[in-house]
Amino acid sequence: AVQISVQVAGAIGLHATVAAAARTAGRFAELAAAAPRPESATAAAPRRLRHGIRLDGVTFAYPGAAEPTLRDVDLTLPAGATVALVGENGAGKSTLVKLLCGLYAPTGGTLTVDGTDLRRIPAASWHRRIAMLFQDFARLHWTVRDNVGVGELTLHDDDTALQAAIHRARAGRAVDQAGGLEGLLGRGYADGTELSGGQWQSLGLARSLMRPRPLLLALDEPAAALDAHAENALFTRFATAARRAARGSGAITLFVSHRFSTVRAADLIVVLRDGTVAELGSHDDLMARRGLYHDLFTLQAKAYA
Ligand code: ADP
Repeated sequence: AVQISVQVAGAIGLHATVAAAARTAGRFAELAAAAPRPESATAAAPRRLRHGIRLDGVTFAYPGAAEPTLRDVDLTLPAGATVALVGENGAGKSTLVKLLCGLYAPTGGTLTVDGTDLRRIPAASWHRRIAMLFQDFARLHWTVRDNVGVGELTLHDDDTALQAAIHRARAGRAVDQAGGLEGLLGRGYADGTELSGGQWQSLGLARSLMRPRPLLLALDEPAAALDAHAENALFTRFATAARRAARGSGAITLFVSHRFSTVRAADLIVVLRDGTVAELGSHDDLMARRGLYHDLFTLQAKAYA
């Protein structure tokens, strides 16, 4: 990992602590190793979504794994919808997000974007249309510029784009506190500014909002460490900023959360169990069914009562 990190850091002109770089390198390696596309991957990612993203009989097994992690998933994520993924730990939520982001390709079945098989869209083209915020988003002890622009080879030096993303993420105060775009962050430096958890989150959010007109906005438990109120605030901020960034592109907002106070507002809730879709519907539909969603919801309501 260290060797990769040095290469990655070097390639994007960053000076990094090894630990931070290794974490990022993990993400980059994941992106790079992701879903090798055949030579025939020449379709362009659509500019806007008209119908949505569809999974037909999707099965997925991690390389070398004996059992598939996702089995026979049939699912339509309609353009413009906000979709929540819920289910117990290990149900396959993160894996499904990674497939939708094109980090891995299905081992069986098809995943189509407005009817085009994702395998036909070059990885770079699809990644440019995705805004991602993961739970383990890296806190890079680098400058603000490197934190927000990491991985954006062309936008990294574009101050206007950086400032726009910072503004959309409402990270302005954190950035001012750090001394602007060239301010060093974290205790790794004698003069680095340490940020609060929420401020790091807003920089992670700014990073995810660097891409103009995303088609898929994916949040994988970015707020696991926050309380319910702060999580709601983060999701609202992300959704508002995302909608503005996506401006009528039919973007889908997809999020993984364990908090029903956040989940219940989604247009569509997908309940996963052991790698399959157990239930599907709105909060009211699923409560009325009195199935797994109802049980998980009731359990949490009791725990917080
Ligand atoms: P969830 O997000 O619902 O907690 P995950 O998608 O993270 O579930 O994991 C589903 C299953 O896939 C788990 O059994 C997990 O151990 C396995 N898994 C996750 N990531 C990997 C990986 N990189 N390699 C092999 N197995 C993995």
